[in-house]
Amino acid sequence: MSHIAVFPGTFDPLSLGHVDIVKRALHLFDTIYLAIGTNMNKHPMFSLDLRLRWLKTVFKDYDQVRIDTYHGLTVDFCKEKNAAYILRGLRNTIDFEYEKTIAQLNNKLNPFIETVFIMCNPAYHAINSSAIRDILINRGDASAFLPPEVAMDIQKSVESH
Ligand code: ADP
Repeated sequence: MSHIAVFPGTFDPLSLGHVDIVKRALHLFDTIYLAIGTNMNKHPMFSLDLRLRWLKTVFKDYDQVRIDTYHGLTVDFCKEKNAAYILRGLRNTIDFEYEKTIAQLNNKLNPFIETVFIMCNPAYHAINSSAIRDILINRGDASAFLPPEVAMDIQKSVESH
């Protein structure tokens, strides 16, 4: 049986922390869908097109990784893709409390889908997308937290403004 996981996220923007979780999960799953949910109660800083492009560029050499978007419940998207696992990263106890609730809700909605957590690499512990956005809004340099392709794109757009 092939092990298929969905890594749902906003990826606003994709960070080195996200990339690390995906790369480490490649040993656990045959296929990982990196899926941007489009009906979240969030107002992303970066357009869906841009976020998709970054995911596609950064993971272009990884045959196991598929990039997608979905509307509606994560568990329904999992079912559509035959995925029995939801993949998430954990940085700290705040993530843990939040993720625990979502994982339990998802398990109630579909008991055949398990959420699998990978503990953050200490090197990326302080990286979170909202801090990255704050740095960028204040014209700071966030490149230490971003995959080079994403950092370059953001730098180009800063220079053209
Ligand atoms: P969401 O809006 O669904 O929380 P995010 O893109 O912010 O989407 O995060 C997606 C997942 O990546 C979450 O499980 C989050 O805990 C995890 N994550 C974010 N940053 C890091 C990091 N630096 N290290 C490990 N996991 C991370």
